[in-house]
Parts: sequence; C-alpha cells; structure tokens
Amino acid sequence: MKAIVIHTAKDLRLEECAVEKPGPGEVEIRLAAGGICGSDLHYYNHGGFGTVRLKEPMILGHEVSGHVAALGEGVSDLAIGDLVAVSPSRPCGACDYCLKGLPNHCFHMRFYGSAMPFPHIQGAFRERLVAKASQCVKAEGLSAGEAAMAEPLSVTLHATRRAGEMLGKRVLVTGCGPIGTLSILAARRAGAAEIVAADLSERALGFARAVGADRTVNLSDRDGLVPFSENKGTFDVLYECSGAQPALVAGIQALRPRGVIVQLGLGGDMALPMMAITAKELDLRGSFRFHEEFATAVKLMQGGLIDVKPLITHTLPLCEALKAFEIASDKGQSMKTQIAFA
Ligand SMILES: [Zn+2]
Ligand SMILES: [Zn+2]
Repeated sequence: MKAIVIHTAKDLRLEECAVEKPGPGEVEIRLAAGGICGSDLHYYNHGGFGTVRLKEPMILGHEVSGHVAALGEGVSDLAIGDLVAVSPSRPCGACDYCLKGLPNHCFHMRFYGSAMPFPHIQGAFRERLVAKASQCVKAEGLSAGEAAMAEPLSVTLHATRRAGEMLGKRVLVTGCGPIGTLSILAARRAGAAEIVAADLSERALGFARAVGADRTVNLSDRDGLVPFSENKGTFDVLYECSGAQPALVAGIQALRPRGVIVQLGLGGDMALPMMAITAKELDLRGSFRFHEEFATAVKLMQGGLIDVKPLITHTLPLCEALKAFEIASDKGQSMKTQIAFA
C-alpha cells in the first residue's frame, strides 16, 4: 500500500509501506478521503513550525475517513463496509489529564501526523489504516469528503465550548480559512445572533458569507473594524483564527467589556495589548484540538445542522498528492483540498 511521506520541506513522496493487521479492539480501514490541514502544509512547505521540526520521515495527515475493511477481535459495533470518520485524537486514557476528563491535554497523546514527539507520530494518509474501533464514528449518509471534515469541525466545536454561552451573542471571526469558516458554522449552530467575519482576502470573505456570516470586513483596510470599536466595542466573542497579531489587536479593540477571546490561530508568540485586556476585563482563552466533540461533529453534519460542503474546493486522486499539496498551499485557489484515496 502507498502512504504520503514527508522527508524534509518540499520533499513529499508517495511511498510503499507495510500493511498492518488489526489487533483486538482495532479495525482496518480502507481510506477514502483525507483533508490537507494547515499543519500538514507547514511540514510540507517549511519542514515544521515554531520549534517543531521534522527529524525523520513522517506520514502526514489527520483528517480522514474510510471504509471498514477488516475487524479485529472483539469489535462488534462496526461492520465491514461501514463508512467511518476516524478521530486522530489518541490519548492514553491513563494519565492525570485523561483521568481528569481533559484528554486533549494527555501527556502521551499520539495525534496522527505530529512531529512534536520523537519518534514522530505517523499520520493517516495511507491506503490502509489500522485504528482503534473507538476512534471510528459511523458516518452513513455523509460523503467521504464530509466525513473527513469532522476533524477540523471538531476543532471549532471545542473552541465554541471554550467560548462559553453563545446564545444571542455578537461574534467576530478573524481569519477565514477552513478553521475560521467552520467557526462561523459552529457559532451559528450554538446560537450566535450576529457573526462578522474579517480577513485580508476578498475570496476568503466570500466563503465566510457562503457559510452564513452576516457581514464581512476586509482587514486590508486597517480601519475596517474601527466602526465596531466605538463605545468600548461591539462583540461578545472573538474567534481568532488567523494567528496574526494585527488581527488579534483589532479584534480586541472591537470586543466589548467582559468579552471573550478564543485563540485558535497558531502563528507563534505575539505581543498583546494588555492595557485593553485588563481595562475591558476581557477573558483570553486558548483552544487546542478536541476529543469528544468529534462524534458531535459527525452527528451535526448527518442531521443537516451543519453543512461543510461549500468549503471542500478540491479533491484530487492519491496519485496526484503532490499537486494536491501545491493547490492546498495556494490560498488564492483552495479552501479545503482533499485527497481521494479510493
Ligand atoms: Zn487539522
Ligand atoms: Zn493521557
């Protein structure tokens, strides 16, 4: 079987690798769809991000779906042929954080396609994947591509939880890539009354409107958010999805007192307007990965309560994986690019 392996920046190879057998509690999955994520692109374009660097070849990918091809011993809730969304979240289940109900903070997390630990955690972009049955959520009724969107959608559902009460709130989303646009869908589903989306790209703002943003602001106009900053600010919640300091600063000015900042974008460390955060009594909350939200993401899509389809802009066959990574790297072309494995 073939896998998509990153060696160093821009050295991505389609390589033959060994097929594993599912052990007790595991299933073999014939991969169907894999979405290319920002972190995959960092490994592809730069060999890592921040202090995280590739030190050995690594299979990329963590946004995947597929069909169950074989059942390990003791697996009774899945059947051969089932379409499943596969959660890349693999906490140990035994450390302090797992036992406290914070599995996304697991000490021994084995999240697919991550060069944070060494040896690296190999990813899921392979024709056959052996996973625990407990990672698999049945996704009947969805396309393989939609099922593979469960992962980034989960990130934004987790962020929505971190934001707290959403009903009737006025929300600002800065950065309208896949995570920003999915945040719009998540915030709306949670009851946000008004959602304003901001980005530098008119094209990205078009996607934001397509998934339900009430208004959009192009931040290439530096004063774009100024009208929202009058009278101590307009918004109750900021989803900061760009990781860019100017967006965060402009967003903070537009938050009203006691507003909540949920930081999702990872762009490295940045200077904060601490005077405004203090004087307006703002809450600054990080949001990282997800766990139990994954099954919720699948359910919301199955019920037609969240529609991610407008965000899937490109689907390329496995043999064109390299081209898919190039397209995904071009924000002028791609929103979410996926690879069709079968
Ligand atoms: Zn991702
Ligand atoms: Zn753990």
